[in-house]
Amino acid sequence: MEDIIEAIERLKKERRAIILAHVYEPDEIQEIADFTGDSFALSQKAAATDAEVIVFCGVRFMAETANILSPDKITLLPAADAGCQMFDDTLESEVRQVMAERPDALLVSYVNTPASVKALSTICCTSSNAVQVVNSLPKDREIVFVPDGNLASFAAEQTDRKVTCWPGGCPIHGRLTVKDIRAAKAAHPGALVLMHPECQPAVRAEADYVGSTMGIIRYAQQSQADSFIIATEQGVLYELTERCLQKHFYLASRQMLCVNMKKTTLEKVRTALTTLEPRVIVPAEIRDKAREALQKMLEITGR
Ligand code: SF4
Repeated sequence: MEDIIEAIERLKKERRAIILAHVYEPDEIQEIADFTGDSFALSQKAAATDAEVIVFCGVRFMAETANILSPDKITLLPAADAGCQMFDDTLESEVRQVMAERPDALLVSYVNTPASVKALSTICCTSSNAVQVVNSLPKDREIVFVPDGNLASFAAEQTDRKVTCWPGGCPIHGRLTVKDIRAAKAAHPGALVLMHPECQPAVRAEADYVGSTMGIIRYAQQSQADSFIIATEQGVLYELTERCLQKHFYLASRQMLCVNMKKTTLEKVRTALTTLEPRVIVPAEIRDKAREALQKMLEITGR
């Protein structure tokens, strides 16, 4: 293990590379990363870095976003098969059809979409800024929000805007039930429930705080409370326990595990830095349009 970590450190300097890791990644990957965060924080970092190589420890749509924002850099996805069901379910042809039926509507696409869908979009968003993005759009225009119906309904609730919600969603957050939360509350009386907005509306109603993964981490850090039920993917426990040494965290359900987020290994990171493969390259004609939608998001919500 130490040999691999040493090799990664050496190769990183030789390649002038930066390692970005999502907070759902395995602990040992978060440990070797130069920067950890959620989709929004990582997209900000990818846009601002002066490294020549971005090693993206996450899933494909995140690496695509990095390549769209920094096309002059090499973007590597060490786990080439790390996908996302929500991404796979968002077909460009279906989005085109829905938008053709609503010529005056604006399209907001969550970053968990293929680059070709971002290229059709008015603006992108992440779970950190979906409310702010929806609020920034003209009040007299219909909004179509793809692909997470639960996040779309959360943005609609918070902004009081009419939002047409796509029927997609994250299978990990979507599987959490009211029964799971009530069982966790019974097992850990007094613990606050911190929940991701990709959970279903009836489940969100059980939460003390609803926010993005980084929002959950910040809330736990700043709260006077010392125990929390965490209703998002379990990888976030690494960052929570690193930042809040004296606090206690309990997963809302053992089912909160995304297998795609666990596909990166130290060996794959070393191989990627050695071979500069597998690369993620978004074709230029899609990339330029997709970048406009991502940059609008970054302009509104901060770089
Ligand atoms: S946690 Fe959900 S949205 Fe994130 S990569 Fe896994 S399936 Fe996709």
